[in-house]
Amino acid sequence: MKKLNSNNIKLAIQKEGRLTEETLDFLKRSGFIFETSKRQLFSLCRNFPLEILYVRIGDIPKYVSSGIVDLGIVGQNVLYEERPQVGKLLNLRFGFCSLVIAVPKESNYKSISDLENKTIATTYPNSVKKYFQKSGIGIETITINGSVEITPALGIAQAISDLVSTGSTLALNDLRELETIYKSEAVLIANKSINIQKQNLLDKLMVRFKGVLSADSYKYIMMNAPKEILPKLKKIIPGLKSPTIAPLGKEGWLSVQSVIKEDIFWETIERLKKIGATGIIVLPIEKMIL
Ligand code: ATP
Repeated sequence: MKKLNSNNIKLAIQKEGRLTEETLDFLKRSGFIFETSKRQLFSLCRNFPLEILYVRIGDIPKYVSSGIVDLGIVGQNVLYEERPQVGKLLNLRFGFCSLVIAVPKESNYKSISDLENKTIATTYPNSVKKYFQKSGIGIETITINGSVEITPALGIAQAISDLVSTGSTLALNDLRELETIYKSEAVLIANKSINIQKQNLLDKLMVRFKGVLSADSYKYIMMNAPKEILPKLKKIIPGLKSPTIAPLGKEGWLSVQSVIKEDIFWETIERLKKIGATGIIVLPIEKMIL
């Protein structure tokens, strides 16, 4: 049987589930080369002293807090629910979902205060209790580990609280959303007492992860612009430090290159077109080391 090497940095990820594919994709985009197969319990990276362990997501916080592994990738919801003694290092920008309270479509419940003295079925009892305590509304919870949506129809609960991403599962089960308790995404967590040697590896790992995350939130943009619009243009795209500007063969025209934030992308393009920029080309960035 293959043994884990204690000098390698160890990362636990979900073996099979909603976070698995995007986690593997994120690790591969971060430049780690490793083989995966469904039956494998762990993989050793070929180009970095990193071991990836495949486990149930519910076990990851325990493994990380106890130091069995150094790092883990879980949904932030797990941290809110279990409050494990781990450090949160990064938000990973995938695995987006929300913990919501939902009630049967045809019911008369209009707001969460209508749920006073009612029973709420959930896999996240701590999060739900805390939320209602804060709101000063007394409720009961019943903990269910799967298919929470069915409980109102079974008469076990009057409302549910569950994770949703699009809301289509709620609609399919004749439920409607009443309130959001919190939003969640995948996060990188770490053991709180990593040794110096591993800390060095972790620093290198973080540069790679951050490189991918920054690249995802920016686009590279190139355009042609008449000289006279340059002051206005610089205000719209300040670039990381400043845009790259070069003269074009055509008299009075410039070629301008810069990076822009993904979240204001369309707004920026519209403003650039309006002041007279032409031939705008936008490219994805693979990695960006700041
Ligand atoms: P495991 O099977 O590994 O023990 P699980 O059954 O909780 O765990 P999944 O249902 O695959 O696993 O959910 C894993 C994580 O995916 C959740 O903890 C959450 O962070 C995230 N997630 C994203 N979208 C959703 C969604 N619509 N419903 C549930 N979880 C979601």
